[in-house]
Amino acid sequence: MNGDPRRNVPRTDRVLDDPRLKDVDRGRAKVLAREQLERVRRGEIRGEDVVPAVVEALHRTRSRVVLNATGVVLHTNLGRAALSEAAVSAVAAAAGYTDVELDLDSGKRAKRGRGAMGALSAAVPRAQAVHLLNNGAAALLLAATGLARGKEIVVSRGELVEIGDGFRLPELLESTGARLREVGTTNRTSLADYANAIGPGTGFVLKVHPSNFYQRGFVAAVPVRQLATLDAPLVVDIGSGLLAPDPVLPDEPDVDTVLREGAGLVTASGDKLLGGPQAGLLLGRADLVNTLRRHPLARALRVDKLTLAAVEATLTGGTTPTHRALHATVAQLRPRVERLAAAVQGEVVDAVAVVGGGGAPELELPSIAVALPEELARPLRLGEPAVVGRVERGRLLLDLRCVPEPQDAALADAVRRASAPGAAAAHDGAGR
Ligand SMILES: *Cc1c(COP(=O)(O)O)cnc(C)c1O
Repeated sequence: MNGDPRRNVPRTDRVLDDPRLKDVDRGRAKVLAREQLERVRRGEIRGEDVVPAVVEALHRTRSRVVLNATGVVLHTNLGRAALSEAAVSAVAAAAGYTDVELDLDSGKRAKRGRGAMGALSAAVPRAQAVHLLNNGAAALLLAATGLARGKEIVVSRGELVEIGDGFRLPELLESTGARLREVGTTNRTSLADYANAIGPGTGFVLKVHPSNFYQRGFVAAVPVRQLATLDAPLVVDIGSGLLAPDPVLPDEPDVDTVLREGAGLVTASGDKLLGGPQAGLLLGRADLVNTLRRHPLARALRVDKLTLAAVEATLTGGTTPTHRALHATVAQLRPRVERLAAAVQGEVVDAVAVVGGGGAPELELPSIAVALPEELARPLRLGEPAVVGRVERGRLLLDLRCVPEPQDAALADAVRRASAPGAAAAHDGAGR
């Protein structure tokens, strides 16, 4: 560094006029340029490093499309479910004006989101009424507020679940002003435990599917069909949003079965096994659903027209990527994996895929993957498109189960670019 670094600080407008920043978002570049110029003043970088640092920061901080080669079907960090083609088109169409709250026949205001609600009702005829909101947590929040504020929610100690990232259902429920009445023990709860706790102060009985962990050994939980005999509304949080039984997922509860067994209300997520957008589902008895739908808080949890469009199309538009990924067999995946392995000099190996997204924690889906050197993981993540695989025992595995087949060629290209001499070094430079 020669002399006082402050004398070599370029001016912001000079930086922004640099041809290398010609096609970028100027507002964002300006914020980043100021940060980098501050670093020049502190003597951390040289004036001529500012533009490359801004280019790199622009690249690093924007949202990117990812090819999910992890073998985790519902990866929460990758946005859970990928939307079906029908849902993608519906979202694009709904981006303009839509009849979301207008009856085109009469020209009068209509019930918001009736297309999506109608599709959900049709998919689960057993539900007397349905409602959609922001996410699964919002569905629980509304149920607790609308049915148990100032009252008790009776729940097993074995079902006080942390969903992930520090979010604990008991804390969410108590934040509504409902009190938790915990019954049973961590491993065993009986029908009598619930029955003894129920009284005039009961808002509802809650059963939570322990979707992200599994208990075995000396355990006992009370099935829905028995809880339904108790003298209190029964709310069941099934988590995943499976609407009907799926033989691939033998231990996952589904909405239809839980309603048939007597639940008054079922809550679930839209972006887990349903394979739709982030949303919360409420289905069940008309009196309960309507009480919640009309609650003032419902407005704050209301879903956007894009979500309504995506839910409707997810339900009516054929197979979802989630369904395809869950049901893909090794025999179907093998030719694709062999082609990729040949194209990138990788090795074909057996792998295990999982549902993820806090669902079916014990379920292993036999899968197949291309194994590559672990060192490729980072350049692949930083590539365009970004490719995220799974590092296992010192190797990078690329599982094609969750990669749409038309993207196979793009994935092979990405691997070739990441393996090209100098690729790793270039990315190390970009990784400060
Ligand atoms: C995932 C999950 C939730 C939360 O749903 P979000 O849609 O993520 O808000 C609640 N309960 C259970 C049992 C879950 O598995």
